[in-house]
Parts: sequence; structure tokens; C-alpha cells
Amino acid sequence: DPNPAVRVADEGDIAAWWHRPGPDDDKYTRGVVGVAAGSERYPGAAVLASTGALAGPAGYVRYAGSAAEYVRRTRPEVVCTPTVKEAGRVQAWLAGPGFGTDEAALAELREVLVSPAPAVLDADALTLIGEYPSVLSRREAPVVLTPHDREYERLYGSPPSEDRAGAAAALAKRLNCTVLLKGHHTVVASSDGAVWANPTGRPQLATAGSGDVLAGFMASLLASGMDPVRAAVAAAYVHGAAGGLAAEGGRTVAASDVARELPAAVGAVLSR
Ligand code: AMP
Ligand code: MG
Repeated sequence: DPNPAVRVADEGDIAAWWHRPGPDDDKYTRGVVGVAAGSERYPGAAVLASTGALAGPAGYVRYAGSAAEYVRRTRPEVVCTPTVKEAGRVQAWLAGPGFGTDEAALAELREVLVSPAPAVLDADALTLIGEYPSVLSRREAPVVLTPHDREYERLYGSPPSEDRAGAAAALAKRLNCTVLLKGHHTVVASSDGAVWANPTGRPQLATAGSGDVLAGFMASLLASGMDPVRAAVAAAYVHGAAGGLAAEGGRTVAASDVARELPAAVGAVLSR
């Protein structure tokens, strides 16, 4: 269908989907997020993605990669291991931001995709999938892809059409994944044809590292047990709202500022 019916999430939807911790919960039952991001060259992606993950509903964030030094120094809550294989009990992964496109990165991406945990794939992971599409076909669990326009083109072969909902739906169907197509009008499409448009966000979100924060936060929602389409829709909504808080009074916005406002944006949505 070239014109799928587009739904728009509101705060009530997200509040209803959100897993609030109960008295019997512990850090494991709330969800363990694995962050496979960053590298010695791009340690910031590891920090930003981990910070995004810490703002979500999961109880535990584990980092797997070579930027552990920086993650430990900036976010002491995060438990670090050098590789994906060594990170136990992970219930949802984020893979890709800043982790490179070399053979080691490809091996780590493969490791994420053979695990039984759902995954958010972003940035360098999308480049790798564009080059080696067979990697994706061997996956064990649902996958959310979060391309911006250039990443979309690498995956689909042509840039997104003006009908962004249709473009996201076409990629979702072709790769049998959930697709969150980023930009001024972020849209989410499931592989079975459901499409959502995100009503929050502003151009100040177009700043380096912003997508890394979004992807980490989304992986936390997945780890908490939210289904992939809802996790993508809710993450885009709250990330956009956090951008709004960060930009209040006309302030300039860096990705760290968006990450810092995520907990307040969650609070605003859940208190409705
Ligand atoms: P990335 O390019 O991976 O850093 O992700 C950029 C983030 O900023 C995504 O959440 C986009 O949806 C958002 N973004 C980029 N450009 C705009 C724009 N012009 N208006 C609103 N949001 C944007
Ligand atoms: Mg990005």
C-alpha cells in the first residue's frame, strides 16, 4: 500500500505502553540493555548512547566495546566488557553508533544478531548491513533500524521519497524490520504495514550525537519488554520532547543536553 494510514502517538499511548517498576522488580527483571557502540576513535558515541540507555526504563546498562575507559569515567553505573560475547544477560541491544565498519565491527554486529535479544541498529551498523545484507537475514530476534536519509539510501538503494511514511514502510517490508526514518518528520513503520508519525522534535535536534542518544534510549525501552514498533514510536516522542526542554528560552542544544533532559521528558509524559 503506497499510502498507509498514518497514526500519531500521544502521551496517553506512551504512558500506557511504559513498564513501570513494581515492588517485585529488580534491576534484571526491569531489563538489561547492551550498548555496542563507540571505539577508540569515537568514544563519544559510546557515552551518548549509554547515557540515552540510562534514561530509559531498563534496570541495567552494559557496554561492550573499546571505549570502556570513557564510559566508566562519565557514567559509573554502566558495567563494561570488551566484547558483545562477554556481556551476559542482555535483553536488548543497541549496535552501531561510532563502532566503525571494519571486520571487528562486523563480527560484533554478527554476535548481536545471533543473540536471542531484539536490537536497535544505527549508524555504522546500517552501513555494514548495506554492504553485507546477509548479516541481517541470519538474525534471531526483532530488529529496529534507525536511518537518517543518507543511511536510508545506503540500505534501500535510493533516497527516501517525499512520502516519508511510504518510504519507511517500503524499507520495513523489504528488510522485514521495524524502520524509524529520522528527520524533521520522523516516521516509524513496521514490516506489516503500520505507520506512525512523530509529533515532537525540532530542528535543534539536528546536532552531532543526537541520534546516538535516541538509539540508546530506544534500546532501553526494548529491554524493558516494549514491542519494537512501540519502542521506536515512544523513543522518538520522548527524545523530541527532551529536545524541546533543552531548547527552552531559545538555548542552543548539544546532544548531551538532550540526553540530560530525557528523564524530565519521561516524567512529563508519565505524569499525564
Ligand atoms: P543523527 O543524524 O543520527 O544524529 O540523528 C539526528 C536526530 O535529530 C534524529 O532524532 C532526527 O530525527 C533529528 N533531526 C534531524 N534533523 C531534524 C530537523 N530538521 N527537525 C527535527 N529533527 C531533526
Ligand atoms: Mg546518527
